[in-house]
Amino acid sequence: MALPVTVIGCGVIGLTSAIRLQENGFEVTIISRDLPPNLTSAVAGAYWYGGELAFHSARHRWSTESLKEYLRLAKENYCGVSTFRMLEVFGAKVSDPWFKDLIPSYERVKTADLPSGYADGYWMEIPIVETPRYLNYLVDRFQQGGGQIQHRTIADLAELANDHPLIVNCTGVYARFVAHDAQVYPLRGQVIKIDAPHIKNAFNDDDAFTYILPRRDGCVLGGVSQRDNWNLNIDTSDSEDIWRRCEKAIPGIRQSPVIAELVGLRPGRYQVRLESETLTENCTVIHNYGHGGIGYTLSWGCALDVVELVKQAITK
Ligand SMILES: Cc1cc2nc3c(=O)[nH]c(=O)nc-3n(C[C@H](O)[C@H](O)[C@H](O)COP(=O)(O)OP(=O)(O)OC[C@H]3O[C@@H](n4cnc5c(N)ncnc54)[C@H](O)[C@@H]3O)c2cc1C
Repeated sequence: MALPVTVIGCGVIGLTSAIRLQENGFEVTIISRDLPPNLTSAVAGAYWYGGELAFHSARHRWSTESLKEYLRLAKENYCGVSTFRMLEVFGAKVSDPWFKDLIPSYERVKTADLPSGYADGYWMEIPIVETPRYLNYLVDRFQQGGGQIQHRTIADLAELANDHPLIVNCTGVYARFVAHDAQVYPLRGQVIKIDAPHIKNAFNDDDAFTYILPRRDGCVLGGVSQRDNWNLNIDTSDSEDIWRRCEKAIPGIRQSPVIAELVGLRPGRYQVRLESETLTENCTVIHNYGHGGIGYTLSWGCALDVVELVKQAITK
């Protein structure tokens, strides 16, 4: 008989963990306060990008596993994942990124071909995720595999300990409360989605935190990253700042009609928490949260480690 596992959270981290557990023979239920698209994961840009920000020794392995899955999905019937060419620019000379041989194409830009004000840059073909569609795809994939989703709020992990021997905690920034982890903090993000089908290539200036991501559901302009800011409302001064920076990259972009403005709280932490905790004699929790601004980049790799930690917990 399949062993039951309870995943808390229905964002990209909870869904990918749940799917990989299912594929490994577990009977998985997701419990979640919010469902897509009303969560951080739906607000994200979201592109796969190397994972240097994760400050964890496993970050390259996690990113590589996710890249493999995204490239596989990009070839499938469209589920929200495609690959795009992105121009990444820098104010100073940089070396090649560690993943340059893993992505479909990579090419340095000649100095003369760089936009003005930049000293270095490269073109890379990377996966970009149309997040609302992709999250729906993950929910369908999970439910078609027999998974159940319960729409419910958990105040504290301890309230599940008696009836749920194996819990996977994927509560994002709210792990601060659910798991009493004071090291988790919000990194508030805001984006503008515009109707601009003429923009074919993505652009990223990481130093200025400015990105332009062409997706089928609209082109996403960003961004901001504000530590300890829990405000879920649109801040018009942030919008203006995003317009100003993106217009510098693509003059005239401000003329495009706005489809939506969105806010989400990235789960900040000094490093991802992916580890097992014995909550009681009969209950083990696998924590999988704190992915900051690269949860999409790390998700499938982290999900594999969740499966290993669950297997270890049952053989203890
Ligand atoms: C503007 C923006 C741009 C981004 N761009 C990128 C990008 O380009 N590339 C990239 O890799 N990442 C990007 N990210 C980061 C990425 O979105 C996050 O790392 C990721 O979404 C975190 O996923 P999560 O599942 O941990 O959290 P969430 O999506 O927040 O999901 C948490 C889940 O836990 C549930 N939950 C919380 N508390 C409770 C409770 N008490 N009881 C029950 N359920 C609960 C919630 O309801 C929700 O279902 C971006 C984020 C933002 C905001």
